[in-house]
Amino acid sequence: MPARPPAPALSPAGTRVFQQLVMTGDASRTALARDTGLTPGAITRAVRPLLEVGLLHETGDRAPAEGTLGRPATVVTVQAEAHLVIGVKVTADELFGVLCDLRCRVLDEVTVPVRDHRPEAIVEQITDLVAGLRAGHPEVGSIGLAVSGDVDAASGHVAYSPFLTWRDVPLGEQVAERTGLATTVENDVRALLTGERWYGVGRGLSSLALVTVGTGIGCALLVNGQVVHGSFGVAGEVGHVLVDPDGPLCHCGNRGCVEAIAGTAGILERMAQAGFGGLGIGDVADLARSGQPDAVRVLADAGRAVGTGIATIANLLGAQHIVITGEAIGSSPAPDDRGEGRPAGDERDYDVMDPHVRRAFEQRAFGSAASAAIELRPLRFVDWARGAAACAVEDFVTHYGRS
Ligand SMILES: [Zn+2]
Repeated sequence: MPARPPAPALSPAGTRVFQQLVMTGDASRTALARDTGLTPGAITRAVRPLLEVGLLHETGDRAPAEGTLGRPATVVTVQAEAHLVIGVKVTADELFGVLCDLRCRVLDEVTVPVRDHRPEAIVEQITDLVAGLRAGHPEVGSIGLAVSGDVDAASGHVAYSPFLTWRDVPLGEQVAERTGLATTVENDVRALLTGERWYGVGRGLSSLALVTVGTGIGCALLVNGQVVHGSFGVAGEVGHVLVDPDGPLCHCGNRGCVEAIAGTAGILERMAQAGFGGLGIGDVADLARSGQPDAVRVLADAGRAVGTGIATIANLLGAQHIVITGEAIGSSPAPDDRGEGRPAGDERDYDVMDPHVRRAFEQRAFGSAASAAIELRPLRFVDWARGAAACAVEDFVTHYGRS
């Protein structure tokens, strides 16, 4: 049970200040007033209930703000350990769990193999994983789950998850019932984006696109400071942007989608057609680095497809920043590649695609849309779980005192 007193209801201003502080960690009252547009009196009223329950802490020892004279500023700090969350990324092969504080710093992590895909079996495994991470931490107050596919974050329902072969699973409700903890469920790529928005490159940005390249090509969008969910749970499907009408068949039934060309299966299939069967994505990158012409060509095509896809996003949305990442380029092994004796998908795997992504983007992005900053980076599986934890933090902060 939570160790602190019952939650007081926060005013909308209180929620705003709490959000701002959880993002930044600490701030002077002056900076809070400046960043939120609230008056000093409103800041005082906003922080008071959170100070009382120990979620915030106040000190007066910081030097006067730069360029100002006078008494030291009062600094308000988030007591990040006062509310802990557990984030779990659910995949068909493994559960990745992390215990995080309110600033999403990872305190503990665990990986559990999945042997039975049935929802009741996975709920059971999540319950056990949560119990393990929670042991000795009465401050754990909520759970975030990240699942690939069509997820209704509002209801916690997984409408459809192809990798798990789930349809209409009330996952949030079931896990909340079993653990007694508030549980949020989010699409895995949107969960990653939520993590970036709260603690990563997305902090302070109003628009950001996050593209994951791996088995599938995923995308999540931040527009006007909000994570886009789409009216029907689908938005920013960059994987099925048309790149080449005569290109390879895509599993969606069309031809020449980004995913058919740049998804792991597409890359490996074209390598197999060239006489290189049985490879992992890391092997293809190694071959390309050694100058093997088929590998160079296949990964160049993949890079161009991704660059064209993200140019489409930039043209439509004018994103400020685009992050490209994914399991095939992460620094820890992707589940599909495990057990093959090499750490597939280290960060170098993407260096061969990088120039092609950027060149295609520059060619296709229209006018100023090309100003978007593009960042290619590896992704570790713990990042997915941390994204899930960020969703739990977001839910806690946004609805604090209202449930
Ligand atoms: Zn497609």
